[in-house]
Amino acid sequence: MTLFTNPTLITDILIVGSGCSGLFAALNLPKDLNITIISKDKLEKSNSFLAQGGICRLKMPDDYHSFFEDTLKAGHYENNPQAVDIMIKSSPEIINDLVNFGVSFQKNKQGELLYTKEGAHSTNRILFHKDITGKEITSHLLKQAKEQSNIHFFEDTCLLDLLTKDKSCFGAIVRLNEDKIVKILAEKTILATGGIGGLYEKSTNVRHLTGDAIAIAIKHKIELKDLSYIQIHPTTFYHKDGDDSCFLISESVRGEGAKLYDKNMQPFVNELLPRDIVTQAILKQMAIDQTEFVWEDLRPIPKKELQEHFPTIVNHCLKMGYNPYEECIPVVPAQHYFMGGIKVNLNSQTSMSNLYAVGETACNGVHGKNRLASNSLLESLVFAKRAAQHIKKSFSKTNEFPRCFDDNDINFYSNKSELEKYYRDLVLSKIEEDKLRKERTPINISIKSKNHLKTSI
Ligand SMILES: Cc1cc2nc3c(=O)[nH]c(=O)nc-3n(C[C@H](O)[C@H](O)[C@H](O)COP(=O)(O)OP(=O)(O)OC[C@H]3O[C@@H](n4cnc5c(N)ncnc54)[C@H](O)[C@@H]3O)c2cc1C
Repeated sequence: MTLFTNPTLITDILIVGSGCSGLFAALNLPKDLNITIISKDKLEKSNSFLAQGGICRLKMPDDYHSFFEDTLKAGHYENNPQAVDIMIKSSPEIINDLVNFGVSFQKNKQGELLYTKEGAHSTNRILFHKDITGKEITSHLLKQAKEQSNIHFFEDTCLLDLLTKDKSCFGAIVRLNEDKIVKILAEKTILATGGIGGLYEKSTNVRHLTGDAIAIAIKHKIELKDLSYIQIHPTTFYHKDGDDSCFLISESVRGEGAKLYDKNMQPFVNELLPRDIVTQAILKQMAIDQTEFVWEDLRPIPKKELQEHFPTIVNHCLKMGYNPYEECIPVVPAQHYFMGGIKVNLNSQTSMSNLYAVGETACNGVHGKNRLASNSLLESLVFAKRAAQHIKKSFSKTNEFPRCFDDNDINFYSNKSELEKYYRDLVLSKIEEDKLRKERTPINISIKSKNHLKTSI
């Protein structure tokens, strides 16, 4: 491995992460700024590309109160109401931005947008593109970003640490192309590193999302919030010999009529309750039935609708030997989403100056204790744009970077697996600490983390 090759890279803005939040921040920054985006794996390998169900939108002004209330109710009223208000009111503008970038949402024959529904929504307010909404959105953002000459990409490039001095951030130390360790000096840095599913044995997330930015924030005493608020999705496809990455069966199939059954094919829960409640009911039922899954019946959805709206889900079931047009499929809960994260204000600023955090790695309090379905793409985009707008207002190029790293400290980064383990343990122990601090009554659900610490929810 080559350590600290010269020259050190210098950029105006460093964005860590090429999911929807990182890309949207980049696209909303002034075009005369030099922007560097790094991603730990390939640019397309992000949770944003996996999002199935859709993205919420305030479809008419008189839905405001119900959208607001649904979000707060799902979040157990622990949400930041100001952040929720901003997210909902910004949604029409964000959807317009997406459409201008070429994103298409499902429409009826008259050309009007179609809205679907998921659990805990009191009305249909979710825009979708078949069952690959995330791919439709993020691939257009990526295409657009690649066309801009001021945006430069480095894939297979991992954030290892931040360059800091006197509580200010001046860029990052990264492992470039899985090989060289280099410094990237930046006037402003945006962390857009997504969730923490890679820390869990079973998760819907892409596996390399291991909460690295959270670990680095802990190391630098950057403020964090609600680290123990982790969402378990009720329904992922059950496969006895499946790998760690679980295939999601989107909640919107339940929104369109799919049912959940116990081992005797009897209903046991209202399928449209908030995610955390449905998850608890499923895990309880599995314990009663002594089974490793429950059944989900997609047959109540008309065949044409199932075919046209959910082709990816149908194909996955067929590939796994189940015909969803004719039989129930086995489903089981798995880790899915991180409501907590690096604490940010309404402009996505962290407690460290020059440092922003957006998307799933940030916590502005929109989701409270439990995220309402299809609010996360929207939240990521709204607050990524706000970060960009804030930077735009306050940016002044200094090109002056203090000496903030002693090159003798390089050994800390040279052993990849030791560093990964150190960061993983840091995050998992802080999650446990937050859980204990909140003194929540443990309930009978636990998800095994990779190092076998049990993380109860
Ligand atoms: C299966 C699935 C279905 C979903 N469906 C929906 C849905 O229908 N609607 C909805 O609103 N939400 C949905 N979500 C949630 C939503 O997709 C995510 O919350 C959102 O996409 C997060 O975007 P992001 O930009 O924060 O992170 P991501 O899209 O996950 O991107 C994270 C980026 O950070 C990079 N990264 C991570 N660590 C490092 C590091 N150390 N160094 C460099 N780069 C790093 C990664 O490589 C990646 O590029 C779903 C999630 C999953 C997993």
